[in-house]
Amino acid sequence: MSRVFNFNAGPAALPLPVLEQVREDLPEWHGCGMSVLEMSHRAEPFLSIARQAGIDLRKLLGVPDGYHVLFMQGGATAQFAAVPMNLLGEHRSADYVVTGTWSQKAAEECGKYGQARIAARPADGRFTRVPPHAEWKLDPDAAYLHYTPNETIAGVEFHWVPEGINVPLVADFSSSFLSHPVDVKRFGLIYAGAQKNAGAAGITIVVVRKELLDRKPLTQLPKVLDYREMAARDSMMNTPPTFAWYVSGLVFRWLLDQGGLEGIAAVNARKSGQLYDYIDSEAFYVNPVDKTARSRMNVVFTLADAARDADFLAGAKRAGLVGLKGHRSVGGMRASLYNAVPEEAVKTLVEYMREFARTHG
Ligand SMILES: *Cc1c(COP(=O)(O)O)cnc(C)c1O
Repeated sequence: MSRVFNFNAGPAALPLPVLEQVREDLPEWHGCGMSVLEMSHRAEPFLSIARQAGIDLRKLLGVPDGYHVLFMQGGATAQFAAVPMNLLGEHRSADYVVTGTWSQKAAEECGKYGQARIAARPADGRFTRVPPHAEWKLDPDAAYLHYTPNETIAGVEFHWVPEGINVPLVADFSSSFLSHPVDVKRFGLIYAGAQKNAGAAGITIVVVRKELLDRKPLTQLPKVLDYREMAARDSMMNTPPTFAWYVSGLVFRWLLDQGGLEGIAAVNARKSGQLYDYIDSEAFYVNPVDKTARSRMNVVFTLADAARDADFLAGAKRAGLVGLKGHRSVGGMRASLYNAVPEEAVKTLVEYMREFARTHG
């Protein structure tokens, strides 16, 4: 077997012990005579898998009793619509802090159902920093304030949680979910697609404060996006993505074994720190993001000469380093360092970058 070092932005690397467990559980799960892929979502074997995943996630993230944990479909993109449709209620508008492509898309989708007020956006139009809280223009009557703690494409991350916000805080945690401890109490709603840091594509996790579901949803709200329906039926209002749910459960277990979110956060800080330190030490590579807002999950960088990009990527591939091409909208390179990317991958990447700079600089 030869596995590469996988820096894909999503779907992305999964922990090897999780993949090995999946293999062991095929074609038969725990003496059931069938695999998880083939089980009824209404029968006990799958119900126990689903229940345990919920328990483990609550433990890992420290989800208080006053919150529902929902397992949904449609990715973060479906949540761009679900959030306003469920939470606008009697409010006319919601506030959005725009720090990159994803928060921009979230705001645009909200605009179909109500008004998305832009509370803040970098004045220079470049997504290289997080506008300081003092610059935000907040509406005290907003339904909620939405922001994206980690912008996957620009490599921009909040290293703080907005404080003193008098409306519920809603966060798209897709690309930094479970990468460090989070104080759930400070949020009204958190959502994340699993395929970046918490499993396979096909399942989306929503953690929502129960009292927010007292708001009156839009009458056109599809049943599959209705948090009340999902909460009342333990996320089994219709057929859930059973296999993806099971894989997420294995990832939660693996994270608990890594010392939980404190443990994995320490590893993540070392990984991104090592790569940024090297980039900063070498004029051949540039990271454009303000140092206070650099992402610990998605490290973007450009080469001094963009004409070398193709050579860089081809050589990286030969060295077993894949998934380093930057998003098509920004170009350059991006190394996604999600939880399942080992420290050895970063070490190997830095060695490759050093050698490439030496021979092409
Ligand atoms: C990947 C990503 C999305 C889009 O997720 P889908 O599951 O493809 O809908 C949205 N927001 C962030 C921050 C992301 O990283």
